[in-house]
Amino acid sequence: MRRVAIIGAGPGGLQLALGLQGAGYEVTVVAERTPEEVRRGRVMSTQLMFGPALALERAAGLNLWDDLAPVMGGFEMTQWDPGAGVPRSRFTASFDEEVRSVDQRVKLPAWLELFEARGGRVEHRSAEPDELPAIAGRHDLTVIATGGGALSTVFGRDAERSVYDRPQRTLACFYASGVAGQGAASDAYARVTGVPPVGDAIVLQALTVGGRCDILLIEAKFGGPYDCWADRPAPEEGLRRAVELLRVYAPWEYERFAKAEPTDAGAALYGAITPTVRHGVAELADGQCVLGLADAVVVNDPITGQGSNNAARAATSYLDAITRRGELPFDGPWMRRTFEEYWKRAQHVHAFTDLMLRQPPADHVVRLLKAAFEHPPTAHRFTNGYADPLDYRDWLMDPAGAEEYLAGIVRSD
Ligand SMILES: Cc1cc2nc3c(=O)[nH]c(=O)nc-3n(C[C@H](O)[C@H](O)[C@H](O)COP(=O)(O)OP(=O)(O)OC[C@H]3O[C@@H](n4cnc5c(N)ncnc54)[C@H](O)[C@@H]3O)c2cc1C
Repeated sequence: MRRVAIIGAGPGGLQLALGLQGAGYEVTVVAERTPEEVRRGRVMSTQLMFGPALALERAAGLNLWDDLAPVMGGFEMTQWDPGAGVPRSRFTASFDEEVRSVDQRVKLPAWLELFEARGGRVEHRSAEPDELPAIAGRHDLTVIATGGGALSTVFGRDAERSVYDRPQRTLACFYASGVAGQGAASDAYARVTGVPPVGDAIVLQALTVGGRCDILLIEAKFGGPYDCWADRPAPEEGLRRAVELLRVYAPWEYERFAKAEPTDAGAALYGAITPTVRHGVAELADGQCVLGLADAVVVNDPITGQGSNNAARAATSYLDAITRRGELPFDGPWMRRTFEEYWKRAQHVHAFTDLMLRQPPADHVVRLLKAAFEHPPTAHRFTNGYADPLDYRDWLMDPAGAEEYLAGIVRSD
């Protein structure tokens, strides 16, 4: 039986571990925290997942919350600049496939317990870089799935594929209960209010440890009024501060959140992410190689809600490559091919996210978004592209393609 070590029990590592276990591999997971510690800990993400990634989880038999997790029916985008006195622009569009968010504090402990219940071996500790040769020596394959953890730095930054070398936003995330609906369909939508000089307030519905909740993610531009989390306030104070900001910059969300309360003691998260592509394979000092998975090697700012979706894609793609390898060695060249196969899809996600972070925004993106506010089919296509950003390649990512697309709208009007 081939032996695989997976370091890191996030969505990427656990989906791969469960998949390999089901395919008859002897899998060891090194997990920093126990399931109970994760459940009682701090929120880690907003983990919005789109149809294609949810389908991968379902195909793996890991969709354990279909009866409980709310389905977001569509997307509402509002752009507004209260200081400039311009009227707000807004579009809504339906999602063609289901979109859901299950708190990682619900999902990951359950997946880890499932892995253990099926006979999987779990080592509860933090793996250190100097242990890697010994771990790699004991296993046929070692996968590092440690997300933003320090161990991921064994994979060097790929300067050609990484656009940014520092964070482009600061982040504040709150899980809230007591959010009031307005009797509108958009109460059950993922909603974004963008104020160009300030940043974005993103709202979605989720299943958390205590049941359904609403999540508010503030994507703050540096130095603006949304960028006020350096003191890392406790959830009550953080949410209170965020709601006061909504009063000014997203009054329609303020109305909903005015009486909101944090869901629990771990309901707030603050941070900043440097969007980075690393080399997918690291060669250790003794010549052995280890393979990087998901955020350990390709990390995006959450402004486009893609990282968990990528983790599901990466786990699926690596599982396929590993099982196809049969009894042949998991050597460096095979690892590089495996990462490159994943990168073929991940590059579109990364390029889309980098483009949405760009300041000032690219001219063709501004024009396409303006078209979306005026032209429902464009709003619909933009909305559903989040599910698979490959769709953006020819009309959003590329200025010439955007021109052609915009000319096509004019012709059809
Ligand atoms: C605020 C925020 C909002 C987000 N919103 C979304 C969204 O809406 N949609 C979306 O798709 N993505 C979103 N993401 C991104 C998403 O959460 C990540 O991309 C995803 O969790 C990555 O999965 P992963 O398995 O690669 O790594 P992680 O989820 O980071 O998991 C890595 C695991 O490894 C463990 N670990 C680290 N170091 C060690 C070590 N040395 N030894 C043992 N274990 C270790 C960690 O404890 C962790 O459990 C968001 C992220 C943030 C920060």
